[in-house]
Amino acid sequence: MKKNSKINRIRGWALALVFIGMIIMYIGVFFRQYPIVFSIFLIIGFIPIILSFIVYFWIGMLSTKTIQVKCPHCEHYTKMLGRADICSNCNEAITIDPELDGKEFNEDYNNRRKREKLLQEDENKIN
Ligand SMILES: [Zn+2]
Repeated sequence: MKKNSKINRIRGWALALVFIGMIIMYIGVFFRQYPIVFSIFLIIGFIPIILSFIVYFWIGMLSTKTIQVKCPHCEHYTKMLGRADICSNCNEAITIDPELDGKEFNEDYNNRRKREKLLQEDENKIN
């Protein structure tokens, strides 16, 4: 899987939901002569579209929590979410946590419990 910044990935999901909803509604068109089936398809197709709106709204909320950092790899400014993220410009791992500096990007670093476990494992390797 291609590495991508978190916000871009969530945005991709939201877009996929819109398409899924449209495809379901489009299938419904084939059942035009059965109004009940047609309306069921419309309703089912509407659900992912509503979900995508919620996701887009959520992205808007998340965007207010992002911080702008200068990517050490490509020198471009990028927005990051959480302690570790992927630069949206060069797709390199970036972190604001000096403890994680130089380590390979791992989604788990944004989860406090998993992060401590990973750091513990690293320490055990050294000793
Ligand atoms: Zn970069």
